Amino acid sequence: MNIPDIIIAIDGYSSTGKSSFAKIIANEFSFQYLDSGALYRGVTLFAIENGFISDDCTIDVQGLDAAMESLDLHFGQEGTYIGERCIEKEIRSLEVAGKVSPIATVAEVRDFVDRKLREFGKRKRVVMDGRDIGTTVFPDAELKIFMTADPMIRAHRRAAEMEAKGVKADLQEVLANLQERDRIDSTREVSPLTQAPDAIVLDNSHMTIEDQMEWIKGVISERFGC
Ligand code: C5P
Repeated sequence: MNIPDIIIAIDGYSSTGKSSFAKIIANEFSFQYLDSGALYRGVTLFAIENGFISDDCTIDVQGLDAAMESLDLHFGQEGTYIGERCIEKEIRSLEVAGKVSPIATVAEVRDFVDRKLREFGKRKRVVMDGRDIGTTVFPDAELKIFMTADPMIRAHRRAAEMEAKGVKADLQEVLANLQERDRIDSTREVSPLTQAPDAIVLDNSHMTIEDQMEWIKGVISERFGC
């Protein structure tokens, strides 16, 4: 398929397989993949390790904002990094998952992440996944997909993914975490998770990744005539 240089924005609920789908799209169409959630998770790890968030999720916003000025959070060979340190495994832990949504409500954190994402987006031929890519980060993205799936199916998928990475996972705990994240993400004041009016919904509860690729190829060929 000969796809023009566009931005593909994939938003949706937690653990709907946005990142797996985005990675395969990137691979198939030679696009660059960007995982915006990894940046929120990276800021969360940084906040935990430096005492800017307490066990009950009270956040020292001023302290975190000042410290982010020297936070070198970026993508590299093995995923997400702070400076030279690869943090890919740590950011997928339940501890980070339990604190990331409160951290992502902080306007200063959203500004920090948005600046990085918009910088990447200048290159075009990018597929980005998150919660507000099609609504706030790239409202002009040429193709917007909004993903959803049955919560129990999502919990099973996330638990399997965590175990494959060597992180212990309890199904009920994973389910509770993703429902709580959906609740916080959908109700926050700054850039809440909502479907952009021009997004196309993909409910992949009973779809394989191959089904989803078929689906997107159909959408792209119809939309861009390729
Ligand atoms: O996509 P992932 O589950 O890794 O994202 C982790 C968290 O980061 C989400 O639950 C959400 O709170 C936050 N997030 C966000 N906006 C984005 C991407 C992620 O608020 N664009």
